[in-house]
Amino acid sequence: MGSHSDDSSASFVKNPTIKFTKLFINGEFVDSVSGKTFETIDPRTGKVTARIAEGDKEDVELAVKAARQAFDHGPWPRLPGSERGRIMMKFADLLEENAEELAALDTIDCGKLFSVGKAMDIPYAANALRYYAGAADKVHGDVLKMSRELHGYTLLEPIGVVGHIIPWNNPIFVFFMKVSPTLAAGCTMVVKPAEQTPLSALYHAHLAKLAGIPDGVLNVITGFGPTAGAAISSHMDIDAVSFTGSTEIGRKVMQAAAESNLKVVSLELGGKSPLIIFDDADVDMAAQLAIFGIMFNKGEACVASSRVYVQEGIYDEFVKKLVEKARAWIVGDPFDPKAQQGPQVDLKQFEKILSYIEHGKREGATLLTGGKPVADQKGYYIEPTIFADVKEEMLIAKDEIFGPVMALAQFKTIEEAIKRANSTRYGLAAGIVTKDLNVANTVSRSVRAGTIWISCYFALDNDCPFGGYKMSGFGKDFGLEALHKYLQVKSVVTPLYNTPWL
Ligand code: NAD
Repeated sequence: MGSHSDDSSASFVKNPTIKFTKLFINGEFVDSVSGKTFETIDPRTGKVTARIAEGDKEDVELAVKAARQAFDHGPWPRLPGSERGRIMMKFADLLEENAEELAALDTIDCGKLFSVGKAMDIPYAANALRYYAGAADKVHGDVLKMSRELHGYTLLEPIGVVGHIIPWNNPIFVFFMKVSPTLAAGCTMVVKPAEQTPLSALYHAHLAKLAGIPDGVLNVITGFGPTAGAAISSHMDIDAVSFTGSTEIGRKVMQAAAESNLKVVSLELGGKSPLIIFDDADVDMAAQLAIFGIMFNKGEACVASSRVYVQEGIYDEFVKKLVEKARAWIVGDPFDPKAQQGPQVDLKQFEKILSYIEHGKREGATLLTGGKPVADQKGYYIEPTIFADVKEEMLIAKDEIFGPVMALAQFKTIEEAIKRANSTRYGLAAGIVTKDLNVANTVSRSVRAGTIWISCYFALDNDCPFGGYKMSGFGKDFGLEALHKYLQVKSVVTPLYNTPWL
């Protein structure tokens, strides 16, 4: 848990060559039909790092055509699962071989710590590929008991062409969280990374080809949401869309799916996750967990523990330790192995976070520490910020800020903690710190959230289904649940004997 400042690797790729800037359609890197490009910005400096092909409706059209062809007539859905698995294993190896370059691309694209990209995102991504590679040949339907003299069985078939729409906060991790089960299921796909972070996705496309994934199976369209993204969610020939992003855009994706071909939709949306700390907690460990839960990835984490509730008996001691730890938290160049927090992804996000901080001050929350940009930094760096005395009706307690801003409050009873934890439209995750099993069990069953972490946080695992309750969305990533999102059930029935079937 905590800092990744122990990464002493000397071989940083601080200025990675940007090799891939074009759309990836049918196994080739191509310009957009319009020839248009857009800039991608380094959040450490605000400077342009590359110009990337700007995909739009026509490009999505070409990518869907390629994916459709690969699905309807290509080898991928027809290969034995073990063969798809073998290719996916190779893809995973290639990811690891290119770990530094890939991690560096995310660092210059979204300000993610290089050490975290290399030591966490890449291994997680490679392991997601391996987990689903292992599942690819274990997909099977059931023989049904049937209540009459009929022989019935189910087939699990790949759902078809899938559209993946991805956010900017964890480009590598989310890409493979989605793409891995889709590949294992035998589907083909069109992936749209966020416009802020297109670089690593294009590199993955290159590696996919090297691994032997057939042309047309994995297409990557870089571009903007209202154009390329909307073209995916409203496309008549895409069978399912899996979206990770804000609740506001998730609603639009669902509307577009409903108004086009009723494609299957899964939405992984925002959160305002509570961390509830009880009197019996180890105060130092709890304070460290609380800092980590909100400051990790500069608060740009859908599951960030942005609301922290602390029981009154340890509140004062907790606050003292929390503030000490926040002040010691190192914000700086994400290539620096000592840094614990890099810059926010872009100017828009930077300004949005600062405006929430101003709201917090105006609404009467107590600013314990932070609250402004880091001095003497050119990029989009914000101080770790903690507000105390936060009330549920305040904007900083209600809205997903998606930045290093904690809303802290104290509570008296377990009932009060549960009520306040549930007082949100979101339900993505929650954390509990207690040594009392009864309390942990009661709270985990009472908080309406898709993942509950007890005495830990961000403990994601390939085997553990992940997704939201309430307005945090529906449909699971990870676990075999995610594989089943990309499969559909077909029932086959035949008379068992020469008997009447009606
Ligand atoms: P966003 O909703 O603005 O964008 C996400 C993606 O949707 C981008 O690729 C964007 O181009 C695309 N998009 C935008 N408008 C679109 C439209 N009209 N039609 C189709 N696609 C469109 O979100 P963001 O700002 O990139 O990411 C931050 C949000 O993502 C936060 O709310 C965060 O909580 C959420 N998130 C959720 C999870 C999760 O698993 N639940 C994980 C990471 C991030």
